[in-house]
Amino acid sequence: MEKKLQVAALRNGTVIDHIPSDKLFQVFTILHLQHCENTITFGNNLESKTMGKKGIIKISEKFFADEEINKISLIVPNAKINIIKEYEVVEKRSLQLPKTIKDIAVCPNPVCITNHQPIMTKFNVLAEDKIKLKCHYCEKEAKLEEVKIK
Ligand code: ZN
Repeated sequence: MEKKLQVAALRNGTVIDHIPSDKLFQVFTILHLQHCENTITFGNNLESKTMGKKGIIKISEKFFADEEINKISLIVPNAKINIIKEYEVVEKRSLQLPKTIKDIAVCPNPVCITNHQPIMTKFNVLAEDKIKLKCHYCEKEAKLEEVKIK
């Protein structure tokens, strides 16, 4: 059976696949892709046998450091990351939850210094039964879904 490409093929770069459709734009945000000058193609609400609908992002000539790509696991722990060279998948990266995240989330504590001074936010990631973030500055803990992503 012929495989139909729903988003144009990538020659060299990174593919982020199996993104739930409602999380696609959060992935853009968490990777700061709005500031990325590489060619980016994406599709959303694509048909997926396993997921129903999914999103996919292809970033040309971009190879993320582990620390950068691992941030995705906060939003889509089951995303598939493929590294492409000359149209072939040369590596499948597995995602690990990062230990700390910087400058991504906003501290939910209104009196936290990061909400009043131009300080980069920093959270320790606590993986218990649910993922929690603990502010490095005020030590406020919050569930991931309660924290605003910048
Ligand atoms: Zn704080």
